[in-house]
Amino acid sequence: MSTNIAIDGPAGAGKSTVARAVAKELSYIYVDTGAMYRAMAVHLLHKGTDLENAAAVAQSCQDAEITIAYENGEQQVFLGEENVTLQLRTEEVGKAASKSSPNPAVRQKLFHLQRELAAKYDVVMDGRDIGTTILPEADVKIYLTASVSTRALRRYKELLEKGEHCELAQIEKDIEERDFRDKNREISPLRQAKDAVLVDSSEMTAAEVIRRILEICKEKDGR
Ligand code: C5P
Repeated sequence: MSTNIAIDGPAGAGKSTVARAVAKELSYIYVDTGAMYRAMAVHLLHKGTDLENAAAVAQSCQDAEITIAYENGEQQVFLGEENVTLQLRTEEVGKAASKSSPNPAVRQKLFHLQRELAAKYDVVMDGRDIGTTILPEADVKIYLTASVSTRALRRYKELLEKGEHCELAQIEKDIEERDFRDKNREISPLRQAKDAVLVDSSEMTAAEVIRRILEICKEKDGR
C-alpha cells in the first residue's frame, strides 16, 4: 500500500514549496493538484468558454485530456499532447482556475486522476480538499495556512522577482476573493480536516515549515 501525505490550505500559504521539499526528502512523488485545475482553466480559456456559465464549463471540460508525467522528479502537466506546465502559473490562469474549480463536472474529472496517482505511488499531494475529499484516509494530513497580509506580501515579492508589474493592495484583494470562493463553494470547500495538523507559517521560514512537517510525519510513523 502506498503512503499518502495530504497538505491543504489557502492560496499563497507556501504549500507547493513545502510539499515539493518534503516529497524530495522522503523520496515520494509530489502531486500539485492546483496545477491540474490550472490546466483545466487553460483548456477552458483556449476554448473561449464563459467561466460564469456553469453549464458551458461543465460541457467544455468533458473533452479536456489532462495527464501527468514526471521528468527528473518534477511534475509535468499535459493537455492532450501539449506540455502546458510553463503556462500554468500566471495570475490570469490562477483566477480562471479559481472560477472554474467549483464546477462539479471539473472536480469529478480530476478526482479520479488524483486518486489513481495516490493509489499507485507514495505521494505528498497538495490542494484544497485532499485531506477532506480526495484522500480522507491519508496517513498524514496537514493544514498549512498564513495570514492574508503575509501571503500577499510573499506573492508580491515573487512577482517582482519575475519582473512582473503588480500592486500589493490588488494582490491582497485577489487573495481575499480567492479564499472566499475556495471556502464557500458548495462542493469540496477548503476547510481543515478534523484529523489534520494545523501549521501557521505566518511567522515561519520555508525551512522551518518543512522541518515541522517532517517531524509530524515522523511522529505519525512512530505510532
Ligand atoms: O493552488 P493553486 O493556486 O495552484 O490552485 C489554483 C486553483 O485551483 C485554486 O484557487 C482553487 O480554486 C483550485 N483548487 C481546488 N482544489 C484543489 C487544488 C486547487 O479547487 N485541490
